[in-house]
Amino acid sequence: MKVTLELERPVYNHEAFTTLQYIRGVANVHLWREAAVSKIVLSLQGRLLAALFKSTSSEDTPFGTVDNHKLFKLSQNIFPPANVPLTVKGFTLPKGTHSFPFQIRFPVLSACHKPQPWITHLKTTLPPSFKFRAPSHEGSAKVQYWLRVKVQRPGRFKHDLVSEQELTFLPLDPALPPPMLDPVYGRSMQPLNPKNLDSNIPPSTFRSASGAGRRAYSFVLLEATLPSPAILYIQRSVPLRLFVRTHATLANDPPITLRTLGVAIHTSTTITIGSDSATWTSSRDLVHISGLELQLTGSRANGGLSDEISRDLWKDATVRDVTPSFTTCTVIRQHSLVVTAGFSHSPEETVYV
Ligand SMILES: [Zn+2]
Repeated sequence: MKVTLELERPVYNHEAFTTLQYIRGVANVHLWREAAVSKIVLSLQGRLLAALFKSTSSEDTPFGTVDNHKLFKLSQNIFPPANVPLTVKGFTLPKGTHSFPFQIRFPVLSACHKPQPWITHLKTTLPPSFKFRAPSHEGSAKVQYWLRVKVQRPGRFKHDLVSEQELTFLPLDPALPPPMLDPVYGRSMQPLNPKNLDSNIPPSTFRSASGAGRRAYSFVLLEATLPSPAILYIQRSVPLRLFVRTHATLANDPPITLRTLGVAIHTSTTITIGSDSATWTSSRDLVHISGLELQLTGSRANGGLSDEISRDLWKDATVRDVTPSFTTCTVIRQHSLVVTAGFSHSPEETVYV
């Protein structure tokens, strides 16, 4: 006796399921001789595993905190039919292969199963299938989903038959944690004087708009905007707009020239288990251009120059192979766009914003 799962849509190409599509298929029960079956249960479930490891100077062996989170579990009886009452003796099926069709769908929200009291539980969008391993074995996280069929048989010594199939899931809309629902722009300002370059001013980032105030000396201000809400779609171009403003004293000759441009996706992964927490970041370049000679010729306002940098510079840049942002009780993954630009005002003066 054997049970197998056969999906209508093969899963070998790892195409992800979403909350819109039903997972359809059949559970095949293969019998070499007639046998009794009590019931057949199909379930779809998700699990989030998170682990943090650290070693102390006084101890050689690392110690860790591990959390195993059940994200949700949906079950349905696919045999016997709903109008047939269950019996102690079960139902005898003849020799051969019996197919039991099913359809089931991913829920939109996660529902923590048996919540642990030391974890702050969040009701969030179901996270995508995900696998993360921090450098130096400092931590790891995994989101897994699978379909399972269980054939229960009558009799104390007859064990259940089980077959499982792991599925890839992708939420339709990314979970938007509060920072991404704020006004979606970032700005950064640098004085146009290489001797006074302030290395403490961060590059323009959508996550932390710089609060740099107006300075008494000349400046170049770079402002980056994304449509609201700030969503980047995989395989599509980046809807980024870049604006430059200069101080009045820089509006005249020699012209301001854009020399370099960089656009990168910064990704941060935070694992929090109880009082332990750690964050890892990584960066991937979308655009990296140097040797530019793009003179800014935009409009003048109050003596200063305002111009928009041509979007042609990043029109071919697309986001690829990025796990969507998500928030769960123990793991948060977020992306931010970081823009860097280098300008020159005269052969001696170059500034990076
Ligand atoms: Zn939870």
